[in-house]
Amino acid sequence: MSLPDDDQQWRARLTPEQYEVARRKGTEAPFSGEYHDCNRPGTYRCVCCGEALFSSETKYNSGTGWPSFYRPATEQSVKTADDHSDNRQRVEVLCRRCGAHLGHVFDDGPAPTGLRYCINSICLKLDESLDRSP
Ligand code: FE
Repeated sequence: MSLPDDDQQWRARLTPEQYEVARRKGTEAPFSGEYHDCNRPGTYRCVCCGEALFSSETKYNSGTGWPSFYRPATEQSVKTADDHSDNRQRVEVLCRRCGAHLGHVFDDGPAPTGLRYCINSICLKLDESLDRSP
């Protein structure tokens, strides 16, 4: 999937809800998304660009109402940035390929990483095909 050149093209490609979260750093309401209690096997891809971001094998139930993973699909899948919004200090998680805002990562996750990638469902698209290649 080719990447749009500008914000206007992202707006045209995405639904208003997808655009607000993925391109404007919004947050979906907890327990509202498609994947917070999803246990189906597959690869979670970026809704904006199709990049493989997370595997269902690293998904766990955090109880937060957002899909949670203890590790990205590969070290190249995502990038992070300091986020000082809302008078809090958090680490934002973004799609490395297209820069989509995905959610945040916290250090209260399970073994083996101790990390909790707290991701908005609306930024993901579960690919249930057998081909798991990125
Ligand atoms: Fe992306």
